[in-house]
Amino acid sequence: MIRLETLGKSFGSFDAVKDVNIEVPKGAFLVLVGPSGCGKSTMLRMLAGLETPSAGRIVFGEDTVSDGEKGWTIDPSRRNVGLVFQSYALWPHMTVAGNVDWPLKVKGLDKAERQARVSEVLGLLGIGALAQRYPNEISGGQQQRVAIARMIAPKPGILLFDEPLSNLDAKLRVEMRTELLRVHRATGATSVYVTHDQVEAMTMASHVAVLNAGRVEQFGPPAELVARPATAFVATFVGTPP
Ligand code: ATP
Ligand code: MG
Repeated sequence: MIRLETLGKSFGSFDAVKDVNIEVPKGAFLVLVGPSGCGKSTMLRMLAGLETPSAGRIVFGEDTVSDGEKGWTIDPSRRNVGLVFQSYALWPHMTVAGNVDWPLKVKGLDKAERQARVSEVLGLLGIGALAQRYPNEISGGQQQRVAIARMIAPKPGILLFDEPLSNLDAKLRVEMRTELLRVHRATGATSVYVTHDQVEAMTMASHVAVLNAGRVEQFGPPAELVARPATAFVATFVGTPP
């Protein structure tokens, strides 16, 4: 379960995120969608622990991981979260297998366990044959699969995605939506997925939060947003005629 309580983030006098209240159950695929600058990445960075909230709380299951009033936040390495960004940030000097192995080494797993897990996740992403290649020897779509394999290898309970498909061509983007959902389900994790693409949001989400200027315009299952858009902004965004 992920719960955001009156979550806010300001930079000086500017509110990048304001009064966000959202709760999703374990296994949910929460999509944060909205136009450029609406605060999506800032929210994801707070979830990851890379940014301290200015107000409110972030709760993962039983644990409060950030408290804006008290001004503390649990370190990213202790949150059990995995992150994938638009840029894949693979280690160029390591093979595909080496990249996926790296977080397992950091975690201190022994060699046999690591080898088994690396081949398991490469298999799950359909890139077992690329194990000994280097990042510059594979395509952008394959690199993104490696980044996802590397993220899920240490079995995080929460998966965070920031526009992971935006560098891919249109056809691959559509294929990867299905692929990502399959991986999400296979891990049993709770995912938070940031995009500015409303089709991506409406087709992938179990829960959607439409953001506008740092605030949640509406939060709910996609079908509910289509059937009963709360504001004109949401109606325009989900494509329902006013
Ligand atoms: P995009 O779709 O373009 O990635 P976004 O929804 O991810 O946009 P954010 O990156 O979360 O938007 O930024 C939200 C707002 O907060 C923007 O106006 C941005 O300029 C501002 N902002 C983000 N980080 C900082 C910072 N460190 N200092 C000052 N302002 C910031
Ligand atoms: Mg962003």
